Amino acid sequence: MKKRLFSGIQPDGHLHIGNYLGSIKSWVKLQDEYECFFCVVDLHAMTVDYDVEEFREFAFETAALFVACGVDPGKSTIFLQSQVPEHAELAWILNTITPMALLERMTQFKDKAKVQKKNVNVGLFNYPVLQAADILAYKGEVVPVGEDQCQHLELSRDIARKFNRRFGLTFPEPQTILNETPRIMGLDGESKMSKSRGNGILLLDAPDVVEKKIRGAVTDPARKRRRDSGDPNICNIFSLHKVFSTSEQISTIEKDCKCAAIGCVDCKKTLIENVVDFLAPIQARYLDLKRDPGIIDGIFKDGLAKARKIASQTMAEVRSKAGLRQTPVS
Ligand code: SF4
Repeated sequence: MKKRLFSGIQPDGHLHIGNYLGSIKSWVKLQDEYECFFCVVDLHAMTVDYDVEEFREFAFETAALFVACGVDPGKSTIFLQSQVPEHAELAWILNTITPMALLERMTQFKDKAKVQKKNVNVGLFNYPVLQAADILAYKGEVVPVGEDQCQHLELSRDIARKFNRRFGLTFPEPQTILNETPRIMGLDGESKMSKSRGNGILLLDAPDVVEKKIRGAVTDPARKRRRDSGDPNICNIFSLHKVFSTSEQISTIEKDCKCAAIGCVDCKKTLIENVVDFLAPIQARYLDLKRDPGIIDGIFKDGLAKARKIASQTMAEVRSKAGLRQTPVS
């Protein structure tokens, strides 16, 4: 029996290479080892301001990019969170056993509340409870996460323990698989690559856009002139080389940067070529899926059936254990 794994990405913008390296790349490997549920978490994405029409498109695009990047719907369940009502129902029940004080500690809430001061909604505050429900609805045993998600996972474990103590053993405590890829910084060099900050290379960026973005990206700030030596270890362009370039290119750039044998323009040129080559097959597969949107609709439909089968069983058990009266409807 394979262990069950849950993970998701919000459809709140165009996916970027940080999303690929931070999540999707590892999903492609993990899908052979685990029984995987990969979810387009659109209910989570409603906690920020959004345009309704664009929002629907992002749900399609996100799922299509999962597939274009190598997530195999034959091996993994790909589905849309809002189509499985058990997520919201379980989240409500978990809300009733989650102390406010635990949610008030969540650093992601504090950070987001600072950014979207005019829209600090209850959903944003409760976000980690819905996240716990996402995982526990499938009795998820493992969750791949980046370092910034560890606190939420710890909360999911706390909530599972609380439910088990209160109502009897129901949920496994989900374990973390920490993503091996280090955090990918944005091209501004200031913060993590993010959809909202617009500081990333999108998976669907055309070659000329990739070129423009990388040409304008921050490098070692101390390297002011071509003849100055640089420090690749503090340069974000070098971090990207470590992901997209060959080991030979990486060691040459590291050596040549330190003695100013290579300028940033040439260094970036190599990176541009490698990123464009990396994105080309993903973009080609995405365009095929976009030409025939029925394929993604079919994947969502199959995923929904598999997801609901499990989530509805979990909810029947939860309702019964939590004392909700079940009256026959006919
Ligand atoms: Fe960064 Fe490359 Fe310039 Fe060195 S040569 S500072 S690694 S962009």
